[in-house]
Amino acid sequence: MKIIRLKPGKDRSLLRRHPWVFDGAIAKGGGDAGETVRVESAEGQFLAWGAFSPASSIRVRAWSFDEAQRIDADFLRATLARAIALRGRLGIESDGMRLVHGESDGVPGLIVDRYGDTLVAQFTACGVERHKQVIADALIELTGCPRLYERSDTSSRKLEGLPEVTGWLRGSGPTALVLREHGWQLGLDIAQGHKTGFYLDQRDSRLVCSQYSRRLNFEHMLNCYSYTGGFTVAALAGGARHVTSIDSSAPALQQAATNVALNGFDASRATFMDADVNASLRKFVAEGRQFDAIVLDPPKLAPTVAHAERAARAYKDINRQAFKLLSPGGVLFTFSCSGGIGVELFHKIVASAGLDAGVDGAILQRLGGASDHPMTVNFPEGEYLKGLVVMKRQQDVQG
Ligand code: SAH
Repeated sequence: MKIIRLKPGKDRSLLRRHPWVFDGAIAKGGGDAGETVRVESAEGQFLAWGAFSPASSIRVRAWSFDEAQRIDADFLRATLARAIALRGRLGIESDGMRLVHGESDGVPGLIVDRYGDTLVAQFTACGVERHKQVIADALIELTGCPRLYERSDTSSRKLEGLPEVTGWLRGSGPTALVLREHGWQLGLDIAQGHKTGFYLDQRDSRLVCSQYSRRLNFEHMLNCYSYTGGFTVAALAGGARHVTSIDSSAPALQQAATNVALNGFDASRATFMDADVNASLRKFVAEGRQFDAIVLDPPKLAPTVAHAERAARAYKDINRQAFKLLSPGGVLFTFSCSGGIGVELFHKIVASAGLDAGVDGAILQRLGGASDHPMTVNFPEGEYLKGLVVMKRQQDVQG
């Protein structure tokens, strides 16, 4: 058994059950990639069992804070079973859902999404990589799904010194699938799509958008960073007359058009633009265009706090342009999936964008990730997705 001894005073975060040990906190000790190590304080007190990552600045990810716990196949199976059982009780209105959400489910570095009877997994750290076969068997057994596809092609694997891997890990089948979310049909491709194929985390917010579409009778919605048109379908299902979707990915837009057709909406109700959102917003402002609903769901602009300042300016800029394009009484659904931007900062950014645009905005609702992407108090990094529904009041402040 290998022992990792921490520097004096570096035991605090593990004592608070935060699952990461950074390289700078370690006084001595090491291990092989993914090997289970015993982490001790400078005084030799047991702190956690964890998986060692020789190449990563997150050098150890904790498996358990219980000294008596053995990190073996039974432990992994029980942890996965607990995560899967939780989803079964959440009443998720979809056959697509996240079954395992990494650190927040006690399985650092593992993401597992389910689309119908197909599982898609991402192994993003050495610990879960080392136990991949045990995890794959347990997932198949616990879910009864016949197939599991691996999408370990995230950039974070590079930081762990792991190569990119994709392909069937168990069983095989089509990679083009259709999921049913809130009764809508949404096509995706688990091999080609972003993440594991779809942005499951925005499920609840898509429903909220559909409800506003119904209540406020959207005439023209602008869906920025539309990906495969989840919000587009949601708004059309709510009765929106027309939705313009913008994304810089041509395959995503093709899938979006397919998704509009799959749900039986007339093609005349949707326009797709393969374009840069920043440039498009400016162009629309210059043309004097107006929309009574706008979705802004950009990619992660600030992966960590270090990027927060630059990202804040970028968020503010797109939100300012969006406020200018909103017609009086219109609503903005604005999001940030950056871990480096907290809820309060995001709120401030949006408020100050509104002020700059001369808009009197009323926040109608706060939004967050869906319940199958849980957060835990000891792991604040798990909270990444936040959103606001802001209405532009009829009377502008000025300008
Ligand atoms: N709202 C979507 C998810 C959006 S993910 C959903 O509910 O499914 C972010 C999207 O932004 C990706 O599809 C990516 O292709 C797109 N994107 C990234 N940078 C862009 C840019 N500068 N202009 C337009 N689209 C961009």
